Amino acid sequence: MVYSLTWLPEVLQKAGLKISEVPDWRTRGRAEMGRVRGVMVHHTVGQRTGNMPSLNLLIRGRPDLNGPLAQLGLGRDGTFYIIAAGKANHAGDGEWRGIKHTGNSNFIGIEAENAGTPDDPWPDAQMDALRRGVAAILQYIGADSTMVCGHKEYAPTRKKDPLWEMAPFRESVAALMAGGVPAAPLIPATDERLRPTIRRGATGAIVQTLQGLLGVNPDGDFGPATEARLRAYQRDQGLVPDGIAGPRTWASIDPGGTAGVGAVGTVVQPAVVASTPVPAPAVAVAASTMPVADDAQHRVTADARFAYGPDGKSFATVHGPGFQVNGETRVDAFVAANPAAGVGVTPSALRCYTGVMGNEGRLEAVNTYDRAFLSFGIMQWTAGPGNGDGELAALLARLQRTDQAVFDECFGRYGLGARAAEGAMTGRLSFDGNDLTTAASKEQLRSKEWTYRFWRAGHNNVVRACEVAHAAGRIGKFIDDPIHNHPLNAWLTSELGIALVLDEHVNAPSHVPGTLDAALGALLVAGSVPADPATWGQAEEDKLVDKYVAQRATTRMTDPVKRSSHLLALSQQGKLSAARHSFV
Ligand SMILES: [Zn+2]
Repeated sequence: MVYSLTWLPEVLQKAGLKISEVPDWRTRGRAEMGRVRGVMVHHTVGQRTGNMPSLNLLIRGRPDLNGPLAQLGLGRDGTFYIIAAGKANHAGDGEWRGIKHTGNSNFIGIEAENAGTPDDPWPDAQMDALRRGVAAILQYIGADSTMVCGHKEYAPTRKKDPLWEMAPFRESVAALMAGGVPAAPLIPATDERLRPTIRRGATGAIVQTLQGLLGVNPDGDFGPATEARLRAYQRDQGLVPDGIAGPRTWASIDPGGTAGVGAVGTVVQPAVVASTPVPAPAVAVAASTMPVADDAQHRVTADARFAYGPDGKSFATVHGPGFQVNGETRVDAFVAANPAAGVGVTPSALRCYTGVMGNEGRLEAVNTYDRAFLSFGIMQWTAGPGNGDGELAALLARLQRTDQAVFDECFGRYGLGARAAEGAMTGRLSFDGNDLTTAASKEQLRSKEWTYRFWRAGHNNVVRACEVAHAAGRIGKFIDDPIHNHPLNAWLTSELGIALVLDEHVNAPSHVPGTLDAALGALLVAGSVPADPATWGQAEEDKLVDKYVAQRATTRMTDPVKRSSHLLALSQQGKLSAARHSFV
């Protein structure tokens, strides 16, 4: 389950800060956060060397205290490691500004890497990032600088972290907030040989030197492939794989100031393709016939086991605190009965979507029993757990932009509203003009009436087309991500290739495009494909697909081999084209 602090990367990146998303951070937490009131600063009491040697401890916890131990780790180079989107065990008991005993629920914890002794220095890059990160978070949650505290202020009898004075720190945070948190200055730290700390975006001779040492095409441009290669190197060497060449990486990769590095890492072989049963042919899709609308004279009712529409027919089963409806209409049946043009997406995008999602979710599916309050449709878009935004609002906002009359017929007449920026993946629902921003206000969505209204809406062809377009539109979230200086769809151009990336994006969006970076980087390093995708043909496309499938198998996404085997089998059956430029 995804917790609510999913805004952390965007807020930190907008403040000009470098982030590193720890795999599975969105679903990591002790529980959902309470209302976020402030930020609490800690130090790790970790090793003296390494950028963030305490990262694993912060993720997993200690024998006496379950992880995660903070939402954010702050490396010595100023990188924020995003560990958890839910509650973390960092505060314990204490009090700050009237918040008593509930530090873990109300404060985001930042654990900065430091040994916690006066002789371990706090690098400028780390302190600068801490001030900026705290300022950006406080600004986002609408709190002032008094709402950042040290652990030692919240729990003075138990704790002494951090060692430095908090009052001047708060003053500098206030100054940053007054100035709107400007971008971080580009003043590189250097090591004792005056080699600068460099990261993605850097250019010049020092980048060429690093690329030479890494065995990457030495074009002097620190792009995604160089970063991917550097991360792989750092992982191999037991360094923090942050993709930044700082003093510790320089010392490791070039200890004498001149030495090169060894051969590239082991090449992972593609998974063996298993054949996968073909889904049964689609049944004919029901026409767009809306069940009768409920109102004061036509009520939805329920007993201990079922909910019944105004026509007296049961449409849902009682399940926990809410209801469940699986729905009837499959995506392939709907699409077969409706030309792609009517659905608003290309046949290629539809083939990719149905290849990845299959027909698991039906167009009328509703669930109102889990912690996301209400989930609807083929991708089970939710109202969002706790006080967070959800993906359902983005779907409904799309419907409203597409056809206001249908929106009003299905939802507007009952006071439901939805707000989401065009292209956004999440947004906010409202009822009678009041935003549903608290768990308590979202509880009403569990009712038999709302279950019925969403199930009923799922029978409308405009709503159905919106569902399909919204699901397939997910391809637009990554299709032109820059990968090694070219958009993703300059490298990967087949339906199979795009479907594989969509599959990873649906399962683990933060891994894209890093996985593809690494796969492409390895091919470029080995010299097995030209660096200009415009010169690529089918052989290069095939090589990249094979390499990407192998690279995916090394990630923490769910069942990567099974999932890619399914898509490769569909390609062999002619249901997804592997031909270069087949995705249109
Ligand atoms: Zn602490």
